[in-house]
Amino acid sequence: MRVLLVEDDPMIGESVGKGLRSDGFTVDWVQDGRRAELALENEVYNLVLLDLGLPRKDGLELLQDLRRRGHTLPVLIITARDAVPDRVRGLDSGADDYLVKPFDLAELLARLRALLRRQGGRATGPIELGALSLDPATHEVRYRGQPVNLSAREFALLHALLEEPGKVLSREQLEDRLYGWGEEVESNAVEVHIHHLRRKLDAGVIRNVRGVGYRLGEKS
Ligand code: CA
Repeated sequence: MRVLLVEDDPMIGESVGKGLRSDGFTVDWVQDGRRAELALENEVYNLVLLDLGLPRKDGLELLQDLRRRGHTLPVLIITARDAVPDRVRGLDSGADDYLVKPFDLAELLARLRALLRRQGGRATGPIELGALSLDPATHEVRYRGQPVNLSAREFALLHALLEEPGKVLSREQLEDRLYGWGEEVESNAVEVHIHHLRRKLDAGVIRNVRGVGYRLGEKS
């Protein structure tokens, strides 16, 4: 899951980014409205976390432009503007949810998951495929009924594959899901995570489609 974090406060940006990454999200962080627009033109995101008071272009204006152009991706506003009229304006401008600073990271993560579920049209609960189940809310992964311990990246990788069972995802697509801008990616990073996943699950769970990428489950 790739998230665009638009926040000009370095301390909040830093801590929210860190919290999201440790929860398995891939995060690109920008600190003004224009950079946010550029990022949205050039990358595909699952969700935007948007501060309202931003340099170069106000968050509300950015959101209105985005909706005018027909973008439907979920936007969660995070801002200190807690007056009721501001909240109403934010929601009227096309925000999907609203969180007032200072907020608790656990609440932010829960709201993100709720938005992403709604977008995916999925009810609460684990995603299941054969003997494998993964719960995006609790981060619990089970294989043949047994809990499996995964790192944040392994979890994100498995989540990406489970969301599109039967579909082959290329190494580049998986890298995109796992790493934000400026994060150092070893050329064989995806292979290494896949190797660990296979060891923790079963060698046959993740198929390697030579020269194309990786797949979970049967061909779609
Ligand atoms: Ca701000």
